[in-house]
Amino acid sequence: MAALQAALSSGQLHHACLFGGPDGVGKELTAVTLAQAANCERGGGDACGACAVCRRIAGRNHPDMVWVMPEAEQIARGLAGRADFAGTPSKDIRIAQIRALQERLSFKPLEAKTRFIFICGADAMNPQAQNALLKTLEEPPPATVLILISSAPGQLLPTIRSRCLKLDFAPLPAAVIEEKLLRDKKLSPEMARLCARLSYGSLSAAENLNTRALAKRVSQLERLAALDEGDVSAALRFAEELASEKGAAETAMALFETWYRDVSLLSSCEDAPPDEASLLHADLLPLLQSSAARLGPVEPLRRIDLCRGVRARLRFNASPRLQLEQLFLRFNRSDA
Ligand SMILES: [Zn+2]
Repeated sequence: MAALQAALSSGQLHHACLFGGPDGVGKELTAVTLAQAANCERGGGDACGACAVCRRIAGRNHPDMVWVMPEAEQIARGLAGRADFAGTPSKDIRIAQIRALQERLSFKPLEAKTRFIFICGADAMNPQAQNALLKTLEEPPPATVLILISSAPGQLLPTIRSRCLKLDFAPLPAAVIEEKLLRDKKLSPEMARLCARLSYGSLSAAENLNTRALAKRVSQLERLAALDEGDVSAALRFAEELASEKGAAETAMALFETWYRDVSLLSSCEDAPPDEASLLHADLLPLLQSSAARLGPVEPLRRIDLCRGVRARLRFNASPRLQLEQLFLRFNRSDA
């Protein structure tokens, strides 16, 4: 951020930046702050956050601040409804969106000193869209900064990456998240600690966890481990229960991923058991040990992958019940 501020105040902000790093570590917030700082009514290269311009940028209703993202993401964020799009909402950023952006960029900014384009989930640009965007990066329009925001910057074409100033955002330390949850969300110390651990450095992920569902952590993990007994009707019941509460399925996926991480860790160091501090669920050691003995070190990793897949699909409004049912059935079929 300091480097960006310096570039900004010297009037030499790079015309294209790539903000990379996991979700929820402040990439978008930084991009917005930068746009405010470049256009703040008080000047001086800082964002006051209070003037009309700063507030309109933060409120996403400044005409020269343009947001580009997949249609499905617009729906997930409540910025659009399903009816706004013909057909199934796209998970890609398509060439038509980039062309529309370019048409807009052929006009001067309406009022901003510096116009900002935010491309959220930039790695969702399909190859045609990326190739179309290249033209803009090669011949940048005046008084315009493009910010590509991505949790997987490595998936962008090298020609795109090489034309951007790259900034990596690191995951936040668990202690920072824990403290913020204690202060802002008034969680109990145990719950704050658990949420911080479950969120892998993402504050927004930590804040979105369903703490009511997490309070049932022990019983949920016991039921998860019991699924290995192959009782299909128990699996379907568990799926139905998790799907019946909003946010519970996503939270369960985060929880299960940490569980299988522990199981894998435990079974891969049989000779020298990991110390309890490196296990997230050390209080459930006997259950962890029996799962580790049953699954070995590799199967838990396969299951983590399956859980991640479910989490990604849930974000795009997949049916939680169907996703969970399929997941639990796949747990017991290593070919699935
Ligand atoms: Zn301001």
